[in-house]
Amino acid sequence: MSLSQTDPQIADMIARETKRQESTLEMIASENLTSAEVMEAQGSVLTNKYAEGYPGKRYYSGCGIYDEIEQLAIDRAKQLFNCEYANVQPHSGANANFAVQLALFNPGDTFAAIELSNGGHLTHGSPVNVSGKWLKPVTYTLVQDEARSDWGYVDFDSVEAVLKEHRPKVLMCGYSAYPRTIDFPKFRELADKYGALLWADVAHVAGLIAGGAHPACFPHCHIVTTTTHKTLRGPRGGLIMTNDEALAKKFNSAVFPGSQGGPLMHVIAAKAVAFGEDLKPEFKTYSAQVVKNAKRLAKELVDRGYKLASRGTDNHLVLIDLRPTDAELSGKVASAWLEQVGIIANMNSVPNETRSPFQTSGVRLGTPALTTRGLKEDDVAKVADIIDRTFRSKGDAGVIAKARADVLAMCERFPMKH
Ligand SMILES: *Cc1c(COP(=O)(O)O)cnc(C)c1O
Repeated sequence: MSLSQTDPQIADMIARETKRQESTLEMIASENLTSAEVMEAQGSVLTNKYAEGYPGKRYYSGCGIYDEIEQLAIDRAKQLFNCEYANVQPHSGANANFAVQLALFNPGDTFAAIELSNGGHLTHGSPVNVSGKWLKPVTYTLVQDEARSDWGYVDFDSVEAVLKEHRPKVLMCGYSAYPRTIDFPKFRELADKYGALLWADVAHVAGLIAGGAHPACFPHCHIVTTTTHKTLRGPRGGLIMTNDEALAKKFNSAVFPGSQGGPLMHVIAAKAVAFGEDLKPEFKTYSAQVVKNAKRLAKELVDRGYKLASRGTDNHLVLIDLRPTDAELSGKVASAWLEQVGIIANMNSVPNETRSPFQTSGVRLGTPALTTRGLKEDDVAKVADIIDRTFRSKGDAGVIAKARADVLAMCERFPMKH
């Protein structure tokens, strides 16, 4: 029996969602299109098994094959990032971060991270997240002075100031809306100077690191966490890595039994498949193309008068500040118009934000999924033109309809493989 016979309601929803993905251009910087093989592993009988524990140390019988699967995922992750220890069990990026915090901190401990509004993540000390409720984040910022050539880059003077004043146990880098290269050696130098451990949450750029399109996080970082579903193009999940044996042991205990129960072995198998894909030479080409596409997107937008955070990009994303080109247009309305034309993106706060997080003045755009579909620089230039027309449309039905037709034509030229 198939799902369409046993549960036509859900089967129909999946079919409609497949159609939506096929007929839109996915530009949410944190999303990607995973391979059929990754989905095959994730949709397998591996979902049936409890495998609490770690390879060779399970609490249930029948785990032999699961030991092999998890060990392969671990070995591939280590090879991909060039490190000694990996935990592939975190159910998500947030779970990976929580486990690290559980391992390293007591309630009330201090750690340094970027101001959330400057491109950080909720798990880096937001007051609504456990990291902000139970720990004490102290923050650094981006360079605020627009007269400076490094406006919008990490302000290492503010990093040093916060380390000097608070002497936190841990310094975090790694962001959700930062278009520039993360300078791991510079962060490490400051962490060493003030006796902090360096923790990089590379959720966004992990695939670029793995593919050689962003400088490596090891050996500079003591701790690295990431998601596996963004630029790494795997199943939804998290990953923790380190070169330090004592830390690795603490992280293993903090994941299980500290904060999770049974591992999602079907997802871990899918992670192994994705890491296998990421180790292939084609993935180097892919990640280099992601960056080329983002740079072209940035150039086309700047040429059309748009203001970009830090004035451009080194990685897979651009962050547009809409205020100078249209003071009336919020990120919320702009991303709603984009959705009407079939370009999926998210509103985002920008440096010196003047609107609420529910309106924002920015739109974040990424190229990982477009690049998976096969778009190259000249195709991205056409997408930039559609985005520009949409932003200038004032919501005009004729302009939106023409842009929608152009997006559909692009989707047909670059079919989704699934
Ligand atoms: C996406 C992201 C996460 C969280 O990942 P989830 O899988 O959604 O929990 C953590 N940190 C950063 C920097 C991210 O961008």
